[in-house]
Amino acid sequence: MKIQLFKPKYRIDECLNEIKECLEIGWTGLGFKTVKFEEAWKEYTGLENAHYLNSSTIGLDMAIEILKNENKWADYDEIITTPITFISTNHAIHRNKMKAVFADVDNSLNLDPEDVRKKITNKTRAIMFVGLGGNTANLKEIEEICKKYNLKLILDAAHMAGTRYIDGSLPGKENADVIVYSYQAVKNLPTGDSGMICFKEKRYDEIVRKMSWLGINKDTYARSVNKDGAYKWKYDVEYIGYKAHGNSIMASLGLVSLKYLDEDNAYRRKLAQIYDNEFENNKNIKLITIDKDCLSSRHLYQILVPDREKLILKLNENEIYPGVHYRDNTEYRMYSYAKDTCPYAKYVSEHVLSLPLHLDLTGEDVKRIATVVGNNNIGE
Ligand SMILES: *Cc1c(COP(=O)(O)O)cnc(C)c1O
Repeated sequence: MKIQLFKPKYRIDECLNEIKECLEIGWTGLGFKTVKFEEAWKEYTGLENAHYLNSSTIGLDMAIEILKNENKWADYDEIITTPITFISTNHAIHRNKMKAVFADVDNSLNLDPEDVRKKITNKTRAIMFVGLGGNTANLKEIEEICKKYNLKLILDAAHMAGTRYIDGSLPGKENADVIVYSYQAVKNLPTGDSGMICFKEKRYDEIVRKMSWLGINKDTYARSVNKDGAYKWKYDVEYIGYKAHGNSIMASLGLVSLKYLDEDNAYRRKLAQIYDNEFENNKNIKLITIDKDCLSSRHLYQILVPDREKLILKLNENEIYPGVHYRDNTEYRMYSYAKDTCPYAKYVSEHVLSLPLHLDLTGEDVKRIATVVGNNNIGE
């Protein structure tokens, strides 16, 4: 049987019931379930603000746009970021006419605080942290750096739905200026496509709510509707915004997925532990260790191997389809100005492999995959 890298799991009857409600009352757009989902997410995370969007990519974009405008950052001021991420992260920086300055990653594959410190200049305005695979890694140290140098902290939490510290607290809650989650089709809380932007400041949450709906300020019409409902069209437009808010069909899927998120992530951690045990004595496989105080969502199970391309072929011969997260972004033409500035990221880019990890796999499946990996990973 073929084993894919990811396979989302939907509780189909529950999902259909939520969606049915939308269809029955004829409300599939903004409002209704999107509001319910925002409330549910705030309750689950303890975050004060949450605005539901149609993707996390647009969330990262608007996060930077708002921070830039409100803090009067100049064009091409700098944001320090990681080269080991999906390009949404770094495109968001450039689309807002800021400069992405790449710092290297460490053994956790996340930003290395030491290199981050070296990359700070008098133009640095923010640090973008990506919790790769759901790991918090050096986030707390990055938070200290942000405090010390008066930088904003943007947390790309696309992999972190459900990640906690062991003490139950939420990564970034105290010190991130904005946290952006993804509920894209293969993330831990799958919906199809959508995301959540959670600003620390209420004022920014109010701005992003307008910006995600073309800049429309609903306050005017909310006021008029209360009077006689006749002035719905009489809203004001404050920004050149986007069509970026989420809808009630996606939120329906999100509401169901959220109920099972902790249970699902616990199962992911169990599978990851089986991989760890299987690889324990294999000196050719380097494991990516999760921090002791992190209860990871385990979005990914990553290893570093000597000859990745050969191993991928062997796995494919066995109908196992792994993935790579990610190519060092500075290898892309778009970011080639920073080529070779992050030597460890470059190494990772050539040796990292994500093994299948999803809710349809059994412990036996994982052992079978691990056996194929172990037998075919004999060094360079
Ligand atoms: C998936 C992903 C995104 C983008 O999420 P979308 O919801 O698909 O826009 C951003 N950053 C990282 C690290 C991701 O993995």
